[in-house]
Amino acid sequence: MHVVLPPDALPGDEVRLQAMRRLEAEVLACNCCPLAQMRTCAVPGEGNLNAVAMFVGEGPGAEEDRQGRPFVGRSGQFLTDTLAQFGIARRDVFITNVVKCRPPQNRDPLPAELDACCDYLTRQVELINPRIIVTLGRFSMRRWFPEGAITQIHGRGRNTGRGRIALAMFHPAAALRNPAWQSAFIADMAKLPDLIERAQRANAAAARGEALPAGVPHPGDDDYVASNQS
Ligand code: URA
Ligand code: SF4
Repeated sequence: MHVVLPPDALPGDEVRLQAMRRLEAEVLACNCCPLAQMRTCAVPGEGNLNAVAMFVGEGPGAEEDRQGRPFVGRSGQFLTDTLAQFGIARRDVFITNVVKCRPPQNRDPLPAELDACCDYLTRQVELINPRIIVTLGRFSMRRWFPEGAITQIHGRGRNTGRGRIALAMFHPAAALRNPAWQSAFIADMAKLPDLIERAQRANAAAARGEALPAGVPHPGDDDYVASNQS
């Protein structure tokens, strides 16, 4: 499964879908960094083209490299289960990584690899235009939170402009290793249903050309962020 259109897709969505399919094809054939030589499958990402929330992990692991799909191994199962626990289905969000090919032995991606792969993620964010970007682990966090330790800033929304917030979370693999981080991962995920609902209401009002209803701050507004900093 790669990117899919929701049943309530609009006519203009087809154009974005074609652009996303081209991007996926580019990733599958990409030779821009040395990770290309070591992969079985590149992993472009998958999910809903109109997702309100986009999850960005680090890079494919062994199972992801075999299947060509993101977060399908042990940490992926934990991510999927935690989403489900809060009523969020994988098919409603979009899931990808900062590097699309597996680093050998799951080592950290190198700066040159992150640089080489960066543009694909930029284009995915532009095409999906999510209201909420959830960073999973340090490497994707760095992209939207250039400073700060994950232990300090996890669970906090940050206004990134253009009606979007970034929310830093621990990586699910780290959460599986450390019980305190696992509790934090679940507590941070608990904030998402409300954020998603507010983003959907804001999008629906904008689509109808209406001002936002009272008490529904626009995602990206200061109070939308501030109400999630507890
Ligand atoms: N870890 C990641 O960061 N991404 C995946 O897709 C799987 C495991
Ligand atoms: Fe290309 Fe990214 Fe894969 Fe490197 S990691 S080969 S830049 S798709």
